[in-house]
Amino acid sequence: MRNQFGELIASEIYCPKCKVAQPVRERLLLVLLDGELHEYVCVRCGASLGKRKVTGTHGKPGPMNPA
Ligand SMILES: [Zn+2]
Repeated sequence: MRNQFGELIASEIYCPKCKVAQPVRERLLLVLLDGELHEYVCVRCGASLGKRKVTGTHGKPGPMNPA
């Protein structure tokens, strides 16, 4: 079993606009406290096909909320 947008690096994702699986580009969408949110974008039409959260980029856990 695999998650569609899990840890697996996606090379092709089905694009509902192109009606076919397309190679995707990964771009940085948002920087979070504990990682980064990346977005998969269809290289053909530019549609957003999914998101992936990348954690551990700083090599340590994020700050705990003091409250
Ligand atoms: Zn597309």
